Amino acid sequence: MAASDKFPDGDDNSTILSIINHVFLPPQLPQNGDSGRTISDDGALLRLVISALQEFRCHVNSARLHAVDCAEKAMVVFQSIRAESGSIDGQKLAEVLHSLDSDNDVSLWALFEKMDINFRSDILIPLHIAAQNAGIIITQNEGSIVLETFELSPTNEAVMGTIGRLQRHFPASAVSIPIKRFRESGFIQAFTDTLEKMSRQEVAEAKPKVSKKGESQIEERDTTDPFLVTDFLHAVLLALDRDTMAVSSISKNTREEVLWKNAFMPWRRSPVWLLIRVTLQLHFERLHSDTLLYKEFMIFLMTYTLDMAQKREFSSDLLHCMMSKIARRLKKLGDDFQAPWIGNVHGTLKQTRDCLQQRWELICKEKDAGVDLKDFSMRILPSDASEPYPRLDAFIRSIDARQDEESVNQFKAPWVLRKYDASSIPDLRNLPDRSIVLQLSAFERWVETSLSLWVQKVDENTCSQLYDLAKEYYDLSRKCYSGCPESLSIASLTILELWMACDKLVCDQIPLLKEYSPEIPAELLQSLLLHSKNHLERLVLLEAYIRGRCVGTLSGLSSIFSSFGHKNSFSVRYYAQSTLHQTLRNNIERVATEERERKRQEYHEKVRQYDMLRQAAAYLTCEYTTYVNETTGRVDQYHSGSCRKHLLDKQADSLTIDVHEWPLPDAELEARSAIFELNVPSHFSAWRNMTTLVINDVLECDYSGSRSGEVVDSLSGYLSSYFTGITHRLELVSTTKSNQRTHRHGKKIKTCTDEGDVLVKNGLRYEYYDSANKCFVSRFRKRE
Ligand SMILES: [Zn+2]
Repeated sequence: MAASDKFPDGDDNSTILSIINHVFLPPQLPQNGDSGRTISDDGALLRLVISALQEFRCHVNSARLHAVDCAEKAMVVFQSIRAESGSIDGQKLAEVLHSLDSDNDVSLWALFEKMDINFRSDILIPLHIAAQNAGIIITQNEGSIVLETFELSPTNEAVMGTIGRLQRHFPASAVSIPIKRFRESGFIQAFTDTLEKMSRQEVAEAKPKVSKKGESQIEERDTTDPFLVTDFLHAVLLALDRDTMAVSSISKNTREEVLWKNAFMPWRRSPVWLLIRVTLQLHFERLHSDTLLYKEFMIFLMTYTLDMAQKREFSSDLLHCMMSKIARRLKKLGDDFQAPWIGNVHGTLKQTRDCLQQRWELICKEKDAGVDLKDFSMRILPSDASEPYPRLDAFIRSIDARQDEESVNQFKAPWVLRKYDASSIPDLRNLPDRSIVLQLSAFERWVETSLSLWVQKVDENTCSQLYDLAKEYYDLSRKCYSGCPESLSIASLTILELWMACDKLVCDQIPLLKEYSPEIPAELLQSLLLHSKNHLERLVLLEAYIRGRCVGTLSGLSSIFSSFGHKNSFSVRYYAQSTLHQTLRNNIERVATEERERKRQEYHEKVRQYDMLRQAAAYLTCEYTTYVNETTGRVDQYHSGSCRKHLLDKQADSLTIDVHEWPLPDAELEARSAIFELNVPSHFSAWRNMTTLVINDVLECDYSGSRSGEVVDSLSGYLSSYFTGITHRLELVSTTKSNQRTHRHGKKIKTCTDEGDVLVKNGLRYEYYDSANKCFVSRFRKRE
């Protein structure tokens, strides 16, 4: 090898960087392979390996020297038969192969064969069949020449589709050719011609294809299928001789990269570099049975490259990356590994570390240069302890005043789920908004389990409490369960159970109620959406109860809600049994009778006054005033404004008297109903409110003839002094005015004919009115 070929003489930094990229694979790799430098870079790589091998042989013992020399020779041969274009120089290859030919009597080969010595040959020729993406290694095995073939660059899919490292086996196939065949005239020429052609010419069939717009096109970015070498050539050579050859192979965990960004051709790891590594590893491991030698040489080669990079002052991060890769390989050999070359490696690593350290120190110095800290420090530090820091002082004082962590962080639940049991009735008022659904659920549970126990401790308020609860629950459940038929059905069931409890209590207290139908349409309960067995069982009980309550009642004759002043009306019949109400009526009538007596006296007194005034006026004549008319000069007279006769007449006419209206309806039965409504028993009121809630709101039934006429007066307002209790949902109202209101300013005495004009009957016509729905009560009707 000429001295000028020694690496890296004459190589520029970009060539060296390119070699580092292939050998070390640092994180920052080129993104394209368009530069066209690949072939010259491969040449430089080959020179680097040869230089490193020459250096390395100075550091190995004699046992290994032969192996290293042989490897070096193989690389030199590789270099010599490699043409400028990267393809094989067939002429040179033929020369090399001829030099082995035993026909040439001076060759060693012939000499050994004549002496019948079974020698281990030093023949080792790596060939790069560039255009086929294949490598061939020619070796000799006893009486045969062995050709081992393999793929070089893996496909893009294999590189990018593999997680971790790509494991590959070399060689892919091997074939042996007997030496006597090899020596036949013309064989070497034909063989080398074929290889040269293959290394130069690409074949369309071996190129990868992509389909573009239905047409199959060659994908230049992917690698060529090496089948022409690994399969076709193999098959042709095999046909010459039937000897197949089993060779040991090596497996390599290779790191490959395919990178392209805004580039036509991708950057990939050099195939020549792979061919070199496979050749060296196969050679060292197989022919010389030395598994460590390859690894040791790779460390040496990398260190050789690092030394070069450091001398050429490559960037710090690249040097650091190279150092760490070498260090990792050293570590794999073991801490106590010893070899003659190891001193060289440690020396280079130390040099590089020192170099990096120096660079760092330089960077630190540069940054510090312009800052004058001395002057600065004088300005911000207080000269003595007197410098005031009022906010800091306040903060330090506040430390003592801090509360115990524990007391500050006591957990306060934003709400607590109320616990209900049979001993008390739930309270649904003032529930926190976010807990309402849970509270409702707890209440439903109470109705299911504890209601029947709670109602056993009955007192006069029990029914009212049940109604208030049902109303409260109804309002909340409508709001919370809106749009959820299942929950609304459970709410309906719950309210109906509350009603049932109330109904049982009131029936016990007022047996008369049992004769009146509650008018709840039990068939509507079929439309409830209930899923659990428990709910369905409760529903069955409820339905049976309601149907039982409707049997044999007066419902056909008289509605408990709307019937007023009828002999079958509940109020009329209740009145008949109630001394309380009869007494109330007596009181009202007694007071009214007394009032009537006074009114009669007042009437007669006013009639007498009227007659007197009229009489006195009759005796008088009109008074006139006389005056002189200024235009005519005659004396005229006009009726005096203070004529006493006329004053008396006016006085008589202006006499009025307030009418007395009988407080109760004239019809006896209506009076009884009205008396009942003046003092409705509280449990009956609760029952009626609750039943209306169930029918009208929960089961959504309307009043059949619902009209909303003008309400003029109500019983509670008209007889407010006798009315007890709160106003009920269903109350008696009148569409006609009372006589008292009609004659609000009194009746003129002169128009009265007798005392019957003053002592009038009751003018109100009562009907039941639903004050919640603002309409008159009639029979319920299912809503369409
Ligand atoms: Zn007069």
